[in-house]
Amino acid sequence: MCGVIGYYSDERDGFADIVNGLFQMQHRGQDACGVAVSDGRRLRLHKGIGYVREVFGHRPSDDFAGRLGCGHVRYPTQGGNRPENTQPHMVTTLDGGILALCSNGDIVNYWGIREWLEARGVDFEGSNDGEVLAKYIAWLHVSEGMPLVRAIRRLQDDIRGAYSAVLVTRERLFAFRDPYGVRPLSFGTDGKDWIIASETPALDIARMDFVDEVGPGEIITWDEEGMHRLPHPDIIAARRGRVDTAHCIFEHIYFSRPDSKAFGHLAYDVRKRIGAWLAETDDVEADVVVPVPDSSNAVALGYAQASGLPFEIGLIRNHYVGRTFISPEQSRRDEGVRLKFNPVREVFEGKRVVLVDDSIVRGTTSRKLARMVRGAGASEIHMRVGSPITAHSCFYGIDTPSRQELIGSRMTLDEIREHITADTLRYTTVEGLKSCVDRPEGFCFACFDGKYPIAVAEEKRMELVEAGT
Ligand code: SF4
Repeated sequence: MCGVIGYYSDERDGFADIVNGLFQMQHRGQDACGVAVSDGRRLRLHKGIGYVREVFGHRPSDDFAGRLGCGHVRYPTQGGNRPENTQPHMVTTLDGGILALCSNGDIVNYWGIREWLEARGVDFEGSNDGEVLAKYIAWLHVSEGMPLVRAIRRLQDDIRGAYSAVLVTRERLFAFRDPYGVRPLSFGTDGKDWIIASETPALDIARMDFVDEVGPGEIITWDEEGMHRLPHPDIIAARRGRVDTAHCIFEHIYFSRPDSKAFGHLAYDVRKRIGAWLAETDDVEADVVVPVPDSSNAVALGYAQASGLPFEIGLIRNHYVGRTFISPEQSRRDEGVRLKFNPVREVFEGKRVVLVDDSIVRGTTSRKLARMVRGAGASEIHMRVGSPITAHSCFYGIDTPSRQELIGSRMTLDEIREHITADTLRYTTVEGLKSCVDRPEGFCFACFDGKYPIAVAEEKRMELVEAGT
């Protein structure tokens, strides 16, 4: 999981808006960040390992003044946390051109494309999929003489997987998405200047009004002649019901901020609907509903409102620890759980507690939390989960562990309940989750049902291409 941002203006400096937008999306990646900006003549890059405030906190904005640019916060899924894997990736092309690219997602055929480029003399500094995207576009542009829009369109045909990307040259900004629209990418304007971002709070902080999402497979360009939208021809066919999208449902469950709008929904609304579904299909007797903060707050609120039970903030989160799931190393994760939550004893003492979490991945956090809540005096713990059983890994930009590490792939429901020491345990079902979004057939649920949509959709798309539609 990563976050990207792009900025375009005919005249106004956008460095502060880019950095503020990255700060709003810090939860999408805490390991590294970077910005590339152009003043129309020179494209400059600054990136480093660490939080946005660490990498950019002391850098005066006039150091990096530019009227177009892109930025990135990184959580490594492909390639380790090394400086050469940080984004944006800047490529100087043989014809004297220069481009910088940042992306969110994972390429399924990364090695095939990389080896193809290496066979043509292209060197790689790191092992990150954004570098492959940047160098593939640069190669097509220079060696095949393709204009950048055609090179991106060719990339969309050849590269499979998830990518929501922003590319900047000295004078032009491009935003594009894989044909299945796996990861979110939205854009907005104040009537003059533009921001494109993985999450809409990055638009809000710059006082930009949401305009639309970059469509699946769409390419949008901004330059001195204005904005141009180029929808993908296969997606036009899709609107006739021929090919489908594969929006990541986990963005609504956990990854995105609750105040983010993506795939036509506000994440906050989807989470409350999930909580209401859990309550409406439950018959447990309890005294209080408590969320595991922060990503479960809205699910627990939806549960409480639908059930009529009181909602209490019984676990206090230390916001300086970071997300447990997002930490790449096991040792940091274990340490993080203990440091992260503290129970409010007065909320739990003698109570039958509905404890609501968004998901159970390894089971480590749930087990420790259950022990903590019982230690704080709860008489019963009824764990309710705002997602179905996570039993499959993600290959589209989320660093879920291998299947063996996923508790949902190794244990039955009752074994999981016993392992986490809950009195009862219920998950949202896939069908229940589908009832919480409009047009559920346009979403990916693969980490729950194992039906990986890109391979299916790709076959469908190839049929279309062969049929000449
Ligand atoms: S496999 Fe899961 S996490 Fe990955 S894109 Fe699909 S729904 Fe999202």
